[in-house]
Amino acid sequence: MALLQIAEPGRAAAPHQHRLAAGIDLGTTNSLVATVQSAAARVLVDAVGETLLPSVVRYLASGEVQAGRDAQIHQADDPANTIVSVKRFMGRRLADLPNADTLPYRFIDHPGMVSLETAAGERSPVEVSAEILRTLRVRAEASLGGELAGVVITVPAYFDDAQRQATKDAARLSGLTVLRLMNEPTAAAVAYGLDRAAEGTFAVYDLGGGTFDISVLRLSKGVFEVLATGGDSALGGDDFDQAIAQWLCEAHGVASLASLAPHEQRSLLMAARAAKEALSQSETVGVAMTLADGTVWQRTLSRAAFAALCQPLIDRTIAATRRALRDAKLRTTDIAGVVLVGGSTRMPLAREAVREFFGRDPLADIDPDQVVALGAAKQADVLVGNGNGEGWLLLDVCPLSLGLETMGGLVEKIIARNSTLPVARAQEFTTFKDGQTAMSIHVVQGEREAVSGCRSLARFELRGIPPAVAGAARIRVTFQIDADGLLAVTAREQTTGIQAQVEVKPSYGLTDAQVADMLKEAIETSLDDMQLRTLREAQVDARRLLDATGAALASDAALLSAEELATVRQATFRVADALETGAPLEPLKMAAADLSRATEEFAARRMNASIRNALAGRELDSLA
Ligand code: AMP
Repeated sequence: MALLQIAEPGRAAAPHQHRLAAGIDLGTTNSLVATVQSAAARVLVDAVGETLLPSVVRYLASGEVQAGRDAQIHQADDPANTIVSVKRFMGRRLADLPNADTLPYRFIDHPGMVSLETAAGERSPVEVSAEILRTLRVRAEASLGGELAGVVITVPAYFDDAQRQATKDAARLSGLTVLRLMNEPTAAAVAYGLDRAAEGTFAVYDLGGGTFDISVLRLSKGVFEVLATGGDSALGGDDFDQAIAQWLCEAHGVASLASLAPHEQRSLLMAARAAKEALSQSETVGVAMTLADGTVWQRTLSRAAFAALCQPLIDRTIAATRRALRDAKLRTTDIAGVVLVGGSTRMPLAREAVREFFGRDPLADIDPDQVVALGAAKQADVLVGNGNGEGWLLLDVCPLSLGLETMGGLVEKIIARNSTLPVARAQEFTTFKDGQTAMSIHVVQGEREAVSGCRSLARFELRGIPPAVAGAARIRVTFQIDADGLLAVTAREQTTGIQAQVEVKPSYGLTDAQVADMLKEAIETSLDDMQLRTLREAQVDARRLLDATGAALASDAALLSAEELATVRQATFRVADALETGAPLEPLKMAAADLSRATEEFAARRMNASIRNALAGRELDSLA
């Protein structure tokens, strides 16, 4: 009898039927949708032939919603209802947005995520993003002539759980089925077909309008993983425009761009941007600008002069690249290929710096604005089941260590920073007090040794632990991060099997700048942290010794002579005093060691007494 065949989950049941799938680059400024047709990935255009959809949504009092260019043209005349760069607000609270007060929106702070008051009512960033995704879905379905079976959406590699979850929610709201979230650099590498190589380590250098990201990826045995990520969230093409504008000001005796009127600043920055982009093709370019009083500023800018102006900016990207390689414990010679992403990598200055640093020509044949969407489309095609079984697995890393709080306010790291995802790690913990039946689990993220220096992600309780002496219970805590970077933590008592679990959807996320700050702080303070950890551990040990001595004295003080009792009491007092006054490590350890010595004989007598009690009245034979 022939065996029945069952399709793998997520795979097409009918292998020859092509299912419609798309890759979406949900960008801060622009978004794109791409698909694979006849084995080639291509970006889909809208009704007027445009590939880029400006990531702008406008809400009207009538309830009408505009997205893309229709919304963008109202950015100046209806700023409060025209939401640009909503990606910055995904999964964020008001406190996470450093320059919220400079933005034209009416923010409403919620515990989970900010929302915006618009003419059509309150809208969350998830709803705004859903409008962009809906527009791309309609574009793709019109262009492909059918419903999309699934999509892959790209997110920055440093996006945390809250931001990833918000992106998934936006997709669901827009009527899309998300096959997978994919890191942007990984998608870029896939677009270049680097996954077809047998093996190798690659770097993705992504310089956009406002941010710089560097990622190091490794392909090994058909598995693609992100080894490290880094960058600078406040460095991009806009800074090069600023440098040119500032140069033109100084050339005309004006000390700073800021001293011009706002509309003059805007038009000077636009002229600077046009000059910068033209310099990617020509050796020299004219920069001109008319001030409000009719004065005309005009200068010629050469590539060499531009390079001199902007070298410090490029150097910052190379410094971040060097750090990422160091994180991944690699040298430039270990890198088999470098991929360029982002409009600013069209600058010869950037390409030259990358070439010089890595000692090889970067891959730059694919349009740097499209490369991420094209890679996502290729991954979506495989995941939806069109890949003829030649699918590959993509792995990412978690940007900060994850762990939990232990006694003394210390952090026990369970998953180390830059661990490859998906990942699951477990560790056993035990109770601190006799008869303890519940355990409070506090999940934190960060590199510091003390909980106070890390970010709190979630708290939950495991109840129903069978009462036993301190240290007897075995609680296995498992941290699991799925391929989309979402964390679940489970605590399980090993004898009874009772367990508690939390899916970590933190109420707010970390900005990549905060990630960078936390890492910097952890490196700078690692020595202090080590000392703090040693002190806290000694405090926990001393407290445990005090508790045990107190319990022993309460039941068996009669086993000691009056003199011995006084010695033990004195030693107990010195330990309690050292703890209460926050004594430094050495005096605390000495006091604890004295107490330990003073109770050695007492412990031995208690042991003998309990054996005697156990044996009392029993025949010798019954012990054989
Ligand atoms: P992205 O955010 O990736 O779309 O990148 C936008 C940035 O790329 C802006 O700062 C643009 O000025 C810059 N850009 C686009 N085209 C060029 C070009 N030909 N030369 C230099 N910079 C460019």
